[in-house]
Amino acid sequence: MAKAIVIGAGVIGCSIAFEMVAKGYEVIAVDKAQGPGQGSTSASSAVVRFNYSTFDSVALAWESFHCWKNWPDHLGKKQERYSKMIDVGVVMLDAPVISGEKTSQLFDSVGIPYEVWNSTDLSKNVAGIDVGKYWPPKKLDDDAFWEDAEDSLGAIFTPNGGYIDDPLLATENLAQAAISAGVTFRFKTKVTAILQEGNKVIGIEVDGTEKIFADVVINAGGPWSNGINKLAGVGQDFTISVKPMRQEVHQITTPMNLLSGPIIGDLDLGTYMRSSPTGATYIGGTEPECDRLDWVDDVEAVNLNRTKELFEAQVTRAARRFPALKIPNTASGIAGIYDVAADWTPIYDRTELDGFFVAIGTSGNQFKNAPMVGKLMTELIDAVRAGHDHDVEPVKIRAERTGNEISLGAFSRKRAFNAENTGTVMG
Ligand SMILES: Cc1cc2nc3c(=O)[nH]c(=O)nc-3n(C[C@H](O)[C@H](O)[C@H](O)COP(=O)(O)OP(=O)(O)OC[C@H]3O[C@@H](n4cnc5c(N)ncnc54)[C@H](O)[C@@H]3O)c2cc1C
Repeated sequence: MAKAIVIGAGVIGCSIAFEMVAKGYEVIAVDKAQGPGQGSTSASSAVVRFNYSTFDSVALAWESFHCWKNWPDHLGKKQERYSKMIDVGVVMLDAPVISGEKTSQLFDSVGIPYEVWNSTDLSKNVAGIDVGKYWPPKKLDDDAFWEDAEDSLGAIFTPNGGYIDDPLLATENLAQAAISAGVTFRFKTKVTAILQEGNKVIGIEVDGTEKIFADVVINAGGPWSNGINKLAGVGQDFTISVKPMRQEVHQITTPMNLLSGPIIGDLDLGTYMRSSPTGATYIGGTEPECDRLDWVDDVEAVNLNRTKELFEAQVTRAARRFPALKIPNTASGIAGIYDVAADWTPIYDRTELDGFFVAIGTSGNQFKNAPMVGKLMTELIDAVRAGHDHDVEPVKIRAERTGNEISLGAFSRKRAFNAENTGTVMG
């Protein structure tokens, strides 16, 4: 039986461990934290939407959505509690960086139901919304931020999509399913070296002392992935770089008749909003050009407390869109870290070191795809181990529930830069 080590027990690592054990590998998952999902997964807004810039990313999100919808079935053995897919739909407001025409074409080719709304539809369907077009996003201290809109917006609405109610529980569900199937988790265990013989990985060293041997090692280290690649000495042939970025998500209480429906993606003003039926709304950012991006050199040194400045910026932008929103005096929210790939598309691939694979660069947008990432990594690893040259002829997988064929070449470390990407968390 081939042995595999998964580094990282976030939502991605847990899914990989779960699928690999199902395929017959002997799997150990190692994480320096105390339990599953303690890295960037714990900060996730867990929005599930299908708006991406390539066919393969859209198809991956659509298939993953069906895994979330059938979560107990996806996990197999019965568990006590399950996270839920809150299927409220997604309203993506028009913005130049996300062409409505292209999105419609992608949704048509993947088979995703959607409606194109003009500004009249938008104001009719979304209570309390201001349909003004404010593009480009501006800073609050820019007088132009407060100017009246001269034009109005439409949107693309998908009746499907929404969010996972409890991202940590979803990750625990995956970890529990993996344990039931035979995966060993080692928490509070830090990977300190990647063991190699010639050009082949042979295992890992943990906590500077113990060696664990394996045939396959997978880097699912989230924002720490760069450091783990350095330990392995890989990256020379990557055309796509990854870098961590700090990001904040804020929380406000909203009137129950406002924002209780679908996710609102508002790149026109630079935010997205996710509301719960209890009247809590999460407001995240979409990297508007006017804001400084907070790139991180040292992941361990990042301040994970929200700042008043960003709270005010994001909540005020949301209130520009929904004028009835009240901006609280006290800031509330969290900070997390994205592992951003240069073209905001993840890298799911082998590396130049035989047996060493990566599931990295998740760019603030891959929680939703985690159920499928486990499957695609397992198929990729099987194919490469069987001698398939994935770099020359990309492995393709068939999405079981939705029928599309997904080319893993779209997530290659050596891909051509995805010039169609939005330059934002939208991918
Ligand atoms: C604020 C925020 C909001 C987001 N919102 C959304 C959203 O709405 N929708 C969406 O789809 N995605 C979203 N994302 C992105 C999504 O959450 C991530 O893509 C996903 O959680 C990444 O999971 P991961 O398992 O790769 O990484 P992580 O969860 O970071 O897991 C990596 C793990 O590796 C471990 N590790 C690192 N180095 C070592 C080492 N040397 N030894 C042992 N263990 C190690 C860490 O302890 C960590 O637990 C968001 C992310 C953030 C930060």
